[in-house]
Amino acid sequence: MTEAVLQGPVVVLGGGLAAVSFVGGLRSGGFGGGIVVVSDEVETPYDRPPLSKEFLREGVADKIRLDLSRARDVEWLRGTPACKVDTPRREVLLADGRSLGYGTLVFATGATPRRLPALQDAPMPVITLRTLDDAQRIRAGLAPGARLVVIGGGVIGLELAATARGLGATVTVIEALDRLMNRCASGTLAAVVARSHLERGVDIRLGRQVTGFDGHAIVLDDGARLEADLVVVGIGVVANDELARAADIACDDGIFVDRLGRTTCPGVYAIGDVTRQRNPVSGRFERIETWSNAQNQGLAVARTLLDPTATPYADIPWYWSDQYDLHIQVAGVSMGDDEIVRGDASVGAKFSLIQLHRGRVVGVTCMNNVREFSSLKRLLGNEALPDRAVLADPGTDLRKLLAARRIF
Ligand code: FAD
Ligand code: NDP
Repeated sequence: MTEAVLQGPVVVLGGGLAAVSFVGGLRSGGFGGGIVVVSDEVETPYDRPPLSKEFLREGVADKIRLDLSRARDVEWLRGTPACKVDTPRREVLLADGRSLGYGTLVFATGATPRRLPALQDAPMPVITLRTLDDAQRIRAGLAPGARLVVIGGGVIGLELAATARGLGATVTVIEALDRLMNRCASGTLAAVVARSHLERGVDIRLGRQVTGFDGHAIVLDDGARLEADLVVVGIGVVANDELARAADIACDDGIFVDRLGRTTCPGVYAIGDVTRQRNPVSGRFERIETWSNAQNQGLAVARTLLDPTATPYADIPWYWSDQYDLHIQVAGVSMGDDEIVRGDASVGAKFSLIQLHRGRVVGVTCMNNVREFSSLKRLLGNEALPDRAVLADPGTDLRKLLAARRIF
């Protein structure tokens, strides 16, 4: 790979959190050259996490706009998809026929929800949740008593289920696997989350798939039939990397980047959900689909472009999720061969989990336990752990304990 060098003008594809964070970082860092952000969405940039939470409850779009105050003198082309990247000519073609020359190109194109062809002929709304428009359509269907079927028991499906129960809808969740939140939570956390939904009256069907619509109801692979007024599909996302692939930039459901955000093409960078990067905990190249990654990778790539001696991006991945009164925070990876439970891992309780793999801490989880999260994160990667019983005791002050052991 070539050195990370900033050459103007800068063109950013995509106008989500990663893009806003990146251009704000460039301007705050003193970059005075031209910046154009090309966004296929008409909306001014907004934050996605509230779309499954506060926005669905309150419906106030103005509350979820991203702060653009640091992104001064940036030209925003909204409602304008980019449709081709010509890397030898350093040019981006837009769907409206215009072309933009660039010195530095940044992909911040995010991800798109997977669709479910089995329900394409169903008469009720079948919606995925990614955009403000999606959230507005879902909100319009969530009247008290509405029958909502959620397909996919991941973070989107479960946050939506919790919000919809709060709004008085009846909710059924269909998950293909035999547990919830398989991609991003340990089995212990998933069981607590499942109990919490069951106690609130959510009907959870594990190990089930939708086979189609029979004219009246959604049909599952065990023959069960579910009548629905609204269906929301949350079965994961795929990276918006098609323009990069067509330009021969190395991709595999995500654009490969290094810690400086460099792709395999000189002058082309990528940030946020669209990237496939080395996860510092697992060591594998993964897509890290979190708000903190979009925010911090965007900032870090701006910083290292402006100053080659700045520290490259290597943040530990983490996310939060809010469902009912459960505030969940997870860092690292949730797959391990051993787990330490701090406190009582039961519904509504406050507890933490430490996941280990071959004796090394690979993941930590806090349930309603915000104060412990930063201390626990510092355990990641450590092998020389304090005594297991001491760690498992929720009365142990982690900060004091770990400071004394020079773990941080
Ligand atoms: P995006 O926000 O997807 O932005 C990419 C933009 O690029 C989009 O506007 C897209 O339309 C545009 N684009 C794509 N192709 C083109 C093109 N060819 N031309 C022009 N524009 C293009 N994370 C958490 O950690 N905690 C949460 O609680 C949480 N909640 C979430 C709730 C919901 C409903 C969703 C959808 C996500 C949530 N996330 C959460 C994940 C987090 O929001 C994402 O990781 C983050 O928004 C990714 O930002 P991004 O800028 O990389 O991509
Ligand atoms: P996830 O990948 O988290 O979960 C999707 C779930 O649906 C998986 O368990 C998946 O199983 C299952 N599934 C796949 N196909 C089917 C099927 N045909 N029928 C039933 N279940 C199926 O994705 P989400 O859609 O929940 O989230 C999408 C994006 O939004 C992610 O990028 C996520 O990070 C982001 N987001 C983050 C939030 C947060 O961090 N709090 C909140 C909301 C969204 P399998 O693993 O086998 O494919």
